[in-house]
Amino acid sequence: MPAPDRYAVIGHPIAHSRSPLIHRLFAQQCQQYMTYTAIDVTPEQLVPWVSKFFATDGRGLNVTVPHKQSLLTLPGRLSERARIAAAVNTLLRDSNGHLLGDNTDGIGLVRDLTENLRVTITAHRVLLLGAGGAARGVIAPLLELKPAQLVVANRSVERADALAAAFAGFGPIRATSFSELEGSRFDLVVNATAAGLQGDVPPVPASVLRGQGTVCYDMGYADEDTPFVRWAREHGAAGTHTGLGMLIEQAAESFYLWRGLRPNTTSVRAALGLRP
Ligand code: NDP
Repeated sequence: MPAPDRYAVIGHPIAHSRSPLIHRLFAQQCQQYMTYTAIDVTPEQLVPWVSKFFATDGRGLNVTVPHKQSLLTLPGRLSERARIAAAVNTLLRDSNGHLLGDNTDGIGLVRDLTENLRVTITAHRVLLLGAGGAARGVIAPLLELKPAQLVVANRSVERADALAAAFAGFGPIRATSFSELEGSRFDLVVNATAAGLQGDVPPVPASVLRGQGTVCYDMGYADEDTPFVRWAREHGAAGTHTGLGMLIEQAAESFYLWRGLRPNTTSVRAALGLRP
């Protein structure tokens, strides 16, 4: 019997990753003979490790913190969405056998928001908190849906300025500091900061919420509610969601790139404790 096709997620640290469970459920559902493991790879090991993985018949990788930007120069080819996001979260061999770097994070967020959670982005005002790698990766897919405005707010405002300048050609985007948000209202607030990892909430004024009119989405996720979700609920947001749904949707897109099959995410969302 041949060995199963090998896939993995690499990061540092990686022990907390839910990706092996998600891909195991996809593989069962789609009846695919494959393995998917989580492997701790340090920045020093990264390039030789990835080269060896593919040289020894590895079929595909997911890439997470802190390697997403480091792998931009490794693959022979980058997809348009990885180039625009300036980050790689999925590696595979293309039909010519060349290593291809792609990014499924942006489509993962947009699918979770629009298809699972039925959140409207078109013609609505969207606030994106943070200007790191995760924020950068979701700007183009959000602007594709033609919001009335996308405002990027960041602690270091010059990083928000740089993103607004880089994506000015994609749609209505502007940058601001957190304090300048006082008096502005939004329909959707997406937290793409890493503040939650330290148990913090970004210093955004509660006046950005229209109360029952605003949906708050935290790209971070944890076993319990994240600090941002708790904050949003305390201030009367209409809906509050963590990034677990985004994680599942970006995984589904990677799975599709690798296996040519699109898993149904509904049962996987339920298995990971998300509401239908
Ligand atoms: P980066 O390190 O690239 O960026 C971190 C961002 O958070 C910066 O904008 C930084 O601001 C800001 N920040 C950090 N601490 C604070 C704080 N205490 N208060 C306010 N702002 C703060 O991280 P990533 O962009 O890669 O990741 C951000 C989050 O997104 C993480 O929680 C990550 O887990 C999550 N994520 C979730 C995914 C999913 O599938 N659900 C996919 C990808 C990421 P400054 O520039 O001023 O330092």
